[in-house]
Amino acid sequence: MSEVKSRNVKKVTPPCVVCKKPIMGTVILVDSKNYHEKCFVCYGCQRRLKPIDFFKFEGNYYCGDCLPKITMPTALQDK
Ligand SMILES: [Zn+2]
Ligand SMILES: [Zn+2]
Repeated sequence: MSEVKSRNVKKVTPPCVVCKKPIMGTVILVDSKNYHEKCFVCYGCQRRLKPIDFFKFEGNYYCGDCLPKITMPTALQDK
C-alpha cells in the first residue's frame, strides 16, 4: 500500500529578504530570494528595479544607470 503525498504544495510565502515581512501579492524572485516589488531596488539610487531589467554586481543589484557608475567609477568622477 502506498500513500501518495498530494498535499506537499505549501501556500506559504517566504518573507521578503529586505524588510522580513510576508509578501502579499507580487513576489519578485531573484537568486532564490523573495522581495516585495517595492523592496527590490537599485543599490545605487534606491529606485525600484524591474525583475527583468536589472544588473548584478558584487552581490548587489543595480539599474542600468548605476551600473556604469560602479563598474567605471573613475570615468564619472571628474565632475
Ligand atoms: Zn519587503
Ligand atoms: Zn540605480
